[in-house]
Amino acid sequence: MDDRVETLATGVRAGERRALAKAITLIESRRPQDRPAAEALLAALGTGDGDSLRIGLTGTPGVGKSTFIEALGLQLIAAGHRVAVLAVDPSSARSGGSILGDKTRMERLSRAPEAFIRPSPAQDQLGGVARRTRETIRLVEAAGHDIVLVETVGVGQSETLVAGMTDIFVLLLAPAGGDELQGVKRGIMELADLVLVNKADGALESQARATRADYAGALRLMRPRPDDPPGYPAALTVSAATGAGLPEAWQAVERLARARSASGARARRRAEQDLSWFREELLAMLRDHVACAPRLARLGAALESDIAQGHRTPPAAAAALMRALLSGRDDPGAA
Ligand code: GDP
Repeated sequence: MDDRVETLATGVRAGERRALAKAITLIESRRPQDRPAAEALLAALGTGDGDSLRIGLTGTPGVGKSTFIEALGLQLIAAGHRVAVLAVDPSSARSGGSILGDKTRMERLSRAPEAFIRPSPAQDQLGGVARRTRETIRLVEAAGHDIVLVETVGVGQSETLVAGMTDIFVLLLAPAGGDELQGVKRGIMELADLVLVNKADGALESQARATRADYAGALRLMRPRPDDPPGYPAALTVSAATGAGLPEAWQAVERLARARSASGARARRRAEQDLSWFREELLAMLRDHVACAPRLARLGAALESDIAQGHRTPPAAAAALMRALLSGRDDPGAA
């Protein structure tokens, strides 16, 4: 292991903020030449902290995610936890920039030494964002953060990705006008362990209670997860602004986390997540390898044009590329 990686690993394990930030920058680097060091660093830090709690949080812009994370995060660090907040922002895959995890959105929490806030990595594809976020979870855990919140906006695919890297998934909603469910897709409801209706304060309080009751009804119609204690998935009201309901919401998270640890469900979920991470990583590495090896990249482009012109079927083209790949002549690592 080179010195730079060893120094970084030592700094991360000691919980040094600068080392952690540098380590994440290395992980997120899109320069292929940084990858070996990133992988060495991850390997040096080991397979993760079994005691951490990873919580996914989703909600459309404006429901109060950052207000909620700030209020909950301050409460958790006051109770002795070390909190990390990461973001998976699907728009960063398109714009290269990130709207989530912006520090100005969680001003007090970002100043707390026990908290670490990191915006979404900018990557070409949502899959790339998810890949780097999984690795960053390992880094913040190695740095001693025992609660990891992964935030995303409610637009579909990103929720599935975040639920696939966390232990518990929370859906944050705003009070709805009338009795309609807020166009929340069934798929997202199915991922949720906890539905929190935020802004249950002032003039919005009674509306928030009505919305909570609607969701409680909708959740009862869904298939319960066999390992979970009765009452889950649960729907509660909170006010991130006043703090009302936050201790109860956290109790609901902890009760579920404890039950899943005791039943082995959490360990099974993490094992499954690691397996799908491995499979996705393998496919992604294969794609990167093809893109980086000049002859394979050229062959890939030619095959794509064959497919477009109807000269080859997609499976025949994929088989041709696999043959070229396995012949190994273009393997940059084998040279
Ligand atoms: P995000 O886009 O989901 O991160 O939402 P923000 O946390 O930025 O909040 C959006 C707006 O809702 C801001 O104006 C907040 O002040 C307001 N807000 C957030 N939480 C509450 C709450 O519990 N009650 C009320 N009344 N307003 C809230």
